[in-house]
Amino acid sequence: MYKYALTQNNELMDIENLSKINKDNNEYKCISCNEKLIPKLGDINAHHFSHYIKNTVCSRETYLHKLGKMVFHDYYIECKNKNIEYNIEYEFSKECKYYFKKYSKICSYKEEQKFNLIEFFPNIAYQKKVDNFIPDLLLTDKNNKNQIFIEIFVTHRVTWEKINSKNRIIEINIKNEKDIELIKQNTLSYRDNRINFYNIQKNIVKSNCNGECRKLFNLIYLNKDCEIKFDKFTLREIGENSIFEFYILNEKEEYNNDLEKMFSAKCSKKNLPIKNCNLCRYNMLDKFEKNKNEPIYCKFLNFTCNSKEAESCESYVQDYKIINRIETI
Ligand code: SF4
Ligand SMILES: [Zn+2]
Ligand SMILES: [Zn+2]
Repeated sequence: MYKYALTQNNELMDIENLSKINKDNNEYKCISCNEKLIPKLGDINAHHFSHYIKNTVCSRETYLHKLGKMVFHDYYIECKNKNIEYNIEYEFSKECKYYFKKYSKICSYKEEQKFNLIEFFPNIAYQKKVDNFIPDLLLTDKNNKNQIFIEIFVTHRVTWEKINSKNRIIEINIKNEKDIELIKQNTLSYRDNRINFYNIQKNIVKSNCNGECRKLFNLIYLNKDCEIKFDKFTLREIGENSIFEFYILNEKEEYNNDLEKMFSAKCSKKNLPIKNCNLCRYNMLDKFEKNKNEPIYCKFLNFTCNSKEAESCESYVQDYKIINRIETI
C-alpha cells in the first residue's frame, strides 16, 4: 500500500490528487519495483496504490528512499520556479573574547542562523558524482563551485567517509510516508531530530559582540551597601553596576556557604567593609551539621542563622585568625 506512484512519464503522483473521475487517465507503476500499480479509491480504506500482481516482492525501504529523493527534487524546483524560499535553520556556538583581558572569561553563546538554500544553491541534480561520493541529491551554486549533499536516510546513515570529506551534508531521516511531509515544510530545522547537518558551519565561530556581550554569568558580589549578593550578570553589566568586589563562578561551580566564606575572606583581606558570620569569632560553622539556609551556629546568641545575619548584628566581631585560615578565591 503506497501513497505515491509514478505515471507513465515518470512523474510522481500522490493518490490524494486522484479522483474516481481522473484515475483512469494514466497508468501507474511502482517507484520501488517498477511493477504496475492500481489506484484504490474505495470508501472504506485510506486511498492507496496497490500492486496489480498480488504478492509482488517489493522493498518499502527502496520505495521510501526513492520517494524522498523525488519529492525533494521536484519540490525544490517548484519552490525555485515560484520564488518560494526553502530554508535551513541551524544553531552554532559563538565565542567572544571582548572582556577576556578584564575578567578572564569568554562570552560564549548559541546563535541561530537561517538561510534560503535556493538563493545560494539554485541547482539540483540526482546522484551526481563528486570526488568519490555519490550523494542522493546534489545542490550547487551558480558557478558549480560550492555544493551541498542531500542524503535521504531510510536505513543507511551517511557514512563517516562522507562526513570526514568535509562536504556539507543535510541528512533527512525518512521512516514512513508521513515523514515525506517534512521535506515540504520549506524549513529544515536543527530543532527537528529527523534532520542532521554536517560540515554546514564550524562548531565554534570566533565572534565579537563589541561589548554587547549577552552570556549570563553567575556572580557573587559585594554591593555598595556592603551586602553580599548572588545574581546573574553579563560581563558588560558587571562594569555598569556599583560593585565593590566580585567573583565570577565557573560553569560547574555552585553557590554555597563555602564559596561565600571564601569570598568574604577575600573582601576582608582587601580591607573592604564587609560583615559576614563566616568571619565572626562567634560562629561555630564547622562543628555543626550544615543546613543550607542556616549554615551558621552562633555560640554567642545561641542560634543557627544565615551568614548574612552579621550585616545587622551588633555583636559582630571580625576574627582575623579565622580569616587568615580561609582559602580565598
Ligand atoms: S549572629 Fe552575630 S555574633 Fe553570631 S556569628 Fe553572626 S555576626 Fe557573629
Ligand atoms: Zn513495488
Ligand atoms: Zn561577547
